[in-house]
Amino acid sequence: MRVIEPHIHMIARTTADYERMALMHTAACCEPAFWAGYDRTSAQAFHDYFTHLTVFEPKRAAQYLIKHFCHICINPKEAEDLVLAREVISFIPEFLSRDNAIGIGEIGTNKNTRNEMTIFEEQIDLAVRLDQLVWVHTPHLNDKLKGTKMMLDALKNRRDINPEKICFDHAEEHTIGLIRDQGFWAAMTIYPVTKNSPARVVDALEMYGLDHIMVDASGDWGPSDPATLHNAIFEMRQRGYDDKTVEQVFYHNPCQFLSQSPKFSC
Ligand SMILES: [Zn+2]
Repeated sequence: MRVIEPHIHMIARTTADYERMALMHTAACCEPAFWAGYDRTSAQAFHDYFTHLTVFEPKRAAQYLIKHFCHICINPKEAEDLVLAREVISFIPEFLSRDNAIGIGEIGTNKNTRNEMTIFEEQIDLAVRLDQLVWVHTPHLNDKLKGTKMMLDALKNRRDINPEKICFDHAEEHTIGLIRDQGFWAAMTIYPVTKNSPARVVDALEMYGLDHIMVDASGDWGPSDPATLHNAIFEMRQRGYDDKTVEQVFYHNPCQFLSQSPKFSC
């Protein structure tokens, strides 16, 4: 069985995690740009971060036979500063031309503010102009439904977007239907401590079916573990699903979405 991890922040993980992922049959992973745990003090810091994502991580992953891809963007949390955000957006195209950069993400909202929405829409414009995949971060906890609806509304009347190329991540039971009804992909993130457990994710797959849905582990600098993806795979097997069905969710679906970028292969 092969696995694709469509959303992981390897910059926050050790090389031992690449090794574990390789042993668990991860063929490829995709790393969206995100908040670093602190606010960067200049656009140059983002330039350095994007260099890390496009130069260092693909080399580190390749040592474990894992293909590393990334999405580039200004993340929702730091999008509040419009001047900084626009300066970062100005050099995103330079990084999108790199070999492993396949889209714009993870854009979206954090606190659902007006500035966050402005930068979300400006990055959607950029994705349309450069024909890029988009990975969307939906806010956590109480803000999730409101933020998801705000972004869906903003995209509803745009005839220039292709919903097939946009994925809304951190979806839960109350947002998956809304997202897919508008033709977008939905992804669910597993967290080992809070929020979406492996069992809850498999419950949601049973409720909503396997079409246009992906699962990722919350591999970042918080309490998280890339292996939670494999806990969900084990959960599906324990419930009696055959390998073909499991591979549909954890390999073929992310492959279908990510392969819309000609640079992606797995
Ligand atoms: Zn993330």
